[in-house]
Formats: sequence, C-alpha cells, structure tokens
Amino acid sequence: MAESKTLTGGCHCGLVRFECTTDLSMVTACNCSICTKRGLHFTFVAPERFQLRAGEDNLKEYLFNKHAIRHQSCNDCSVEVFAHGNKADGTPVIALNVNCIDGIDLASLKMTPIDGRNR
Ligand SMILES: [Zn+2]
Repeated sequence: MAESKTLTGGCHCGLVRFECTTDLSMVTACNCSICTKRGLHFTFVAPERFQLRAGEDNLKEYLFNKHAIRHQSCNDCSVEVFAHGNKADGTPVIALNVNCIDGIDLASLKMTPIDGRNR
C-alpha cells in the first residue's frame, strides 16, 4: 500500500486551490460521458482529507443524469477540480480530479478501469 501524502493543486488559472491527503492507490480511468469529455481521472478521499484553500466562491456546479455527483469547476478557466458525491452506503466522499494535482505525471499512475458508461 502506497503512503499517503499531502498534495497541493488547483485549477488552471490558480483561483481554486486545494490541499489533499491521499495515497493515489486508486485512480479512475472511466469511460462514462463526463470523464471522457472532460478527461477526468478521479481519486476518492474522505471530506476531512480535502481542504479548499482558495476559490470557494469561484466554483460553478454542474449536475447531470441523476444529479448524484456535484461537479465543481472554476468559473474562470472552467477546469473541474473536484466533485461531491456519496459512497454506496451514503457516506460523503470527495472525488478529486488528479489532473489538478501540482506536478502530476499521469503516465506514472496506475489507473483502475471503470465501466461508468454502462452503469
Ligand atoms: Zn481557474
């Protein structure tokens, strides 16, 4: 099991900034419509392991389908940084877009295929 680290990141223009503690052991490569079109790769963390450091007032929420996942994008640069969701048992969870982590190298991450398109 990889070690958890506190990572920083944000949107493209820098208005939205966060800190997140994660081991990045599970990163999604999902084929659903939004992950495909937005190029999203999520890792899931408990809300207490994710802190917005800047830009809370600059987020735009996007909902579709069952509105189960509340996608949060920067108002200025339109990059989706994270989403609010719930696990199957109802526990709140943050889906962090790993593309937004400072200095992330996608090719170095082990991706977990998710068949979101057929769910
Ligand atoms: Zn931005």
